[in-house]
Amino acid sequence: MINALRGMKDLTFEESERFVHIVTTAIGISKKYGYNYIETPILEESKLFKRSVGESSDIVGKEMYQFEDKGGNDVCMRPEGTAGVVRSFIQAKLDRRQNEKFKFYYYGPMFRYERPQKGRLREFHQFGCESFGEASVYEDFTIIQMIGDIFKALGIGYDLQINSLGCPTCMPPYRQNLINFLTECQDELCEDCNRRITTNPIRVLDCKNEKCQSLLTNSPKLINSLCDSCDGDFKKLVKLLKSENISYHIDSNLVRGLDYYSKTAFEFVSNNIGSQSAIAGGGRYDKLVEFLDGKSTPAVGFALGIERIMELVQMPEISREGYYIGAMKQEGVDALFSLASQKRATDKVTLEYAPKKLKAHLKGADRVNARYCAVVGEDEFKEQKVWVKDLIQKQESVINWSDF
Ligand SMILES: [Zn+2]
Ligand SMILES: [Zn+2]
Repeated sequence: MINALRGMKDLTFEESERFVHIVTTAIGISKKYGYNYIETPILEESKLFKRSVGESSDIVGKEMYQFEDKGGNDVCMRPEGTAGVVRSFIQAKLDRRQNEKFKFYYYGPMFRYERPQKGRLREFHQFGCESFGEASVYEDFTIIQMIGDIFKALGIGYDLQINSLGCPTCMPPYRQNLINFLTECQDELCEDCNRRITTNPIRVLDCKNEKCQSLLTNSPKLINSLCDSCDGDFKKLVKLLKSENISYHIDSNLVRGLDYYSKTAFEFVSNNIGSQSAIAGGGRYDKLVEFLDGKSTPAVGFALGIERIMELVQMPEISREGYYIGAMKQEGVDALFSLASQKRATDKVTLEYAPKKLKAHLKGADRVNARYCAVVGEDEFKEQKVWVKDLIQKQESVINWSDF
């Protein structure tokens, strides 16, 4: 017997229904906000992720599904969605159309070679949106509002955490301040943080180690040393959230795991999956397009983790739907096909090919959760009629084939 690979999972029945419900809900709402679907390849050149996600990140350093293909190319299964969308945006030369705005949504599998544990798979799925060409903080707010709409439609509660990651004016002096602070308490920080002081000091803020976190309560906060532009945008974002009654917390230690974010950063967190866990995250990444050799283009986006949301989503009640159609004698079976195609124009239809007794057909209708059980018996066949039972109203009727 061949099993699925470790950390990879099949979705069937109730689970796959949840998956589809989440994706279709998210698509419906993102379309209302003007997003168009983009499909990019799962396999990309490894250097795309090395450059965009950053060599010092865990994703690139430890978790990439990276290999050499038969042509000797260094390739990688995408660990996240943004890099591929940005690569595509630049490749299609959309970055040269500076007066236009482009909004894309995507969904699909992502791959990270992590140690499989509960809630973390090696193949997982994300839904995400990327908005290009809009520098206004109104767009940051609109994206947050859109995610709020998606969670509302899915019946999921959340805690919104926001922060600003500054810009090339205010981030470098802050980074230096932070390095000074971290170097002073270096001996008390964990091993990972010690390494990060030189490779990626901002990520120290994100350390899960309790001792590190308690030391960090006194660290300098970027939120207190933003430049005028970043400070103005952050205040505006807060004002918009308040005016639209979207509750939020400012988390000055919220840094995204990826290096290309600037200004607005946010996370939607759920308290209902074991410990606190992010169910969506995103922010502004004004530098990434340029960083990947495109023309400088402001951009903001987010991704949500479909598997985590599957644990939380309230599924709508599934009621009986459509028709189950069967016959009691072989001679009646052939008549079923034209009856079924007639009905499929408007309804879901399940066709049973084997002749069976009425009781067996009623059971069959139950199994597929059909609302109507339609059966052609011996008499019905002679008279070109069909017996139909409404399994919700418990009403029976006999109908001509032509009126079915
Ligand atoms: Zn700034
Ligand atoms: Zn640490």
